[in-house]
Formats: sequence, structure tokens, C-alpha cells
Amino acid sequence: NQMEHRKLRFKKRPRYLVFENNEIMKSNRRDFLSKAALASAFAAAPLASFGREYQTAIDRTPKSSMPSDLKITDIKCGYIRGGHSLFVKIYSNQDIVGHGEGVDATPGTYHLVKIMGKRIRGQNPLNVHRLFETIRKSGFFEGAQSGMFVAVLTAVETALWDLAGKALGLPVYQLLGGKFRDSVRVYMDTALYQNRLPKPEDFATAAKEAVDMGFTAVKFDLDQANDPNKYDRFNWTASPAELQRMYDQMAATREAVGPNIDICADMHGRYDATTGERVAKMLEPLGLMWLEEPIAAENSDAYKKITDSTSTPICAGENHYLAHGFRPLLENGAVDIIMPDLQKAGGLGEGQRIANLANLYYVPFAPHMVASYLGAMASAHVCASVPNFMIMEWQIYFHKNPMYREIVTFEGEAVENGFITVRDVPGIGVEINEEAMRKYAPEGVPFFE
Ligand code: MG
Repeated sequence: NQMEHRKLRFKKRPRYLVFENNEIMKSNRRDFLSKAALASAFAAAPLASFGREYQTAIDRTPKSSMPSDLKITDIKCGYIRGGHSLFVKIYSNQDIVGHGEGVDATPGTYHLVKIMGKRIRGQNPLNVHRLFETIRKSGFFEGAQSGMFVAVLTAVETALWDLAGKALGLPVYQLLGGKFRDSVRVYMDTALYQNRLPKPEDFATAAKEAVDMGFTAVKFDLDQANDPNKYDRFNWTASPAELQRMYDQMAATREAVGPNIDICADMHGRYDATTGERVAKMLEPLGLMWLEEPIAAENSDAYKKITDSTSTPICAGENHYLAHGFRPLLENGAVDIIMPDLQKAGGLGEGQRIANLANLYYVPFAPHMVASYLGAMASAHVCASVPNFMIMEWQIYFHKNPMYREIVTFEGEAVENGFITVRDVPGIGVEINEEAMRKYAPEGVPFFE
């Protein structure tokens, strides 16, 4: 069919534009700009008489400063993880396709993707901020303040950056204003929570495994729904035995890795403010990098109470949305560190705005990340582009679950010795493998249709 034909044609072309030096890009995508196409058409005839020099002059003319006739033609999506990972593809009239990912707040959003697609169809995808505002403002009465609306907008916005980067021959970090660093430090989320009742020894073993893999920071979860010492499943107060269990697990971790590895502990917003204060105080001697979401996201005054009560740095943000959501946290000094999820909180541009807002309060930026390699690499571009980047989340599932390497394609290794090297290719630098992804897609939901 036509789509497959287009894909084949695309594959035959060199995938990336080549950087000759810092200023000049050489592109074989002659039809990218109308002016460039015109120049190319004329180039064929005089080439014989004027020789190679003329062609070289045309090739060296910066084409990206000219008005573009690039247009969005369609938007499609697919899901994995039961709908909790959304992949958006934005198509253009020049065979360039942009990819973006949204996470967590995405099940059941197929029609929302389609509605957003309609609102930007026919427009120039290079105006990323403008399209972001077009969708956000059109959704004020549809929930554009947080949740699913923003998570879907995030995937769409990310796909626009990818598309723009490919069209202009620039990596996304460059479109975001350039980079402060070439590599992005990540911490390993050990996913030990998948064990029913992990013992302190399990924490120690998992931490050592991560350190042996080259990571210099690890994260563990302290909330355990199956803990037999819980008062009950619904109240938010930790019992003394539950507190002791948390301390023993973190102490074993510190003992295993020594003083120079960073440790984070996550409570997933499942406790009350008193418990949050107690846990933060109790863990002070262990010198954590941070204690994450001791309480749920809604009440920044309660966060401030905990933060003011302890020397353990308090971190939150994976359930906050847009720069608007982070403003009260920052203005009130409610947390020490912010951790927006860049596949959920509003996108790459909004992620940069949130980081820059935090920078005004001297608050570090440590993004949450539970996406695929696509989302991870997209996040890394933002992390490279802001001064106050601290560390980004990495997941053990990349090393244990082969699905993640099947559903996308990219060159080389994603992470080495606890660092992501920011990709120096146009766009995000990761492509979706639609056929491989199809087998993980939930039943009964349209897949890239
Ligand atoms: Mg968390």
C-alpha cells in the first residue's frame, strides 16, 4: 500500500543529514523548501557549464532560514503497557515523520489524540510553541490543566520537536537553545517493588548490581502494599514496625554501596504528612539524595511542612503538570528538588520552562522517567539544555525486558557507565518500530490508524 511504499522510499535515503561543520548542513532532502527545490531544478542545467562549484554553492546555502512549506498532514497513535505508554506519529507533506511518547495518564486517550491532530493539521510543524499553545488553549474546558489532556499534549509536542529537528537537520537539544553538557547522569530505578516483600538483603543486592553496572545513584520504593505491619490498606499512617522496615531497607542499601553512591527513596504519595515527617527525620543519618513523594501531590502547604522539618531533601513533581503546577511548589519553597515527568507534564518545551522556573529558586531539576527509549532520549535533550539539571531516572527494565529494544531503533548504546550520551543526530534520535510494537499493543484499541 501507499504507506508502506513511502516507508521503503524513506529507508533508501540516508537517514540523517550530515554536519559538514557547525554552520553548514548538507541535505539530500531537496524538496524540503520550495526555494531550495527551485534552486535544485535550475542547478541541473548550468551544472555542465559552471561545474561543481555552482552545485557546491547551492549545497552550502543555509536553507533553513527560508520560509518552509512543510505542513502537518496526519497524526496517528499506538499504545503499549495496557495503554500506559502512548506513541504519537505526526506525518508531514514531505515524508518526514515525528515521534513522541506520553506515559501514565494515557489509557483511553485515542480520540483525544485524534482531536488534537485535527486542530493542528495543515499547519507548519516548525512552530512548536505556537502549536502547543493552540492545543492547550483549545482545551481549557476539556481538562487542559493536568492529567490525560496534558499527557497527550506532551506526546504530540514531543513529536513536533522530533519532526522539526529532522526537517532542519538539528538535534532537539540544539532547537532548545543548545546544551550545557554532552552526557546526562542517570540513576537506576531498581524496580524491587515487583518482589512481594523484599528484605534488606534484597535491597543491598539490587543496589550493588546497579553500581556494578556503572550507575552512581539508585532508587528504591519504601511503600509496600503487602507489608503485614500496615494498620490497614486505606489509612495513610505508617506503623512503628513499618517505619523500622523502611529504615532497615535503606540502611542495608547504604551499607552495601558505601558513602559515595547516591540513594533515593520513593513513598509514591501513599502516606500522611506526619509519617512523611517521621520517615524524613529517621533517614537523615543515611544521607539520602532525596525522599520522594512522601505525600500525594495536591497540597503544597503539607509538602512545605515536611520539607521545613528535615535535612533530608524532599522531592516531588511526577504528578504535577505544566509550569503552572510547579509554580506553587517553587514559590512556597515546598520541595527541595523537582522531578517533572517529561512524557507527562507538558512536553519538552514545557519541561525546559519548568526547569528554568526552578532555577530562579535555586532548585535542582531531576526528571522522573518511566518511558521507552524514545521518551528517555527525548528527556535527555531537555536535561542537556538546562543549567540546573541534577540527575534523570533510568529503569532496570531496559536491561531485563527485551521488548524495549524491539519497539524502537537507534544506533549504539543508550546508556554507558550511568550516563546517557545526548544524541547528535537530527530530532530525538530514536525511531519507532511499528511492526515490532504491534504485538505489545492492547486489544481493541486502534493501532496507528
Ligand atoms: Mg516516584
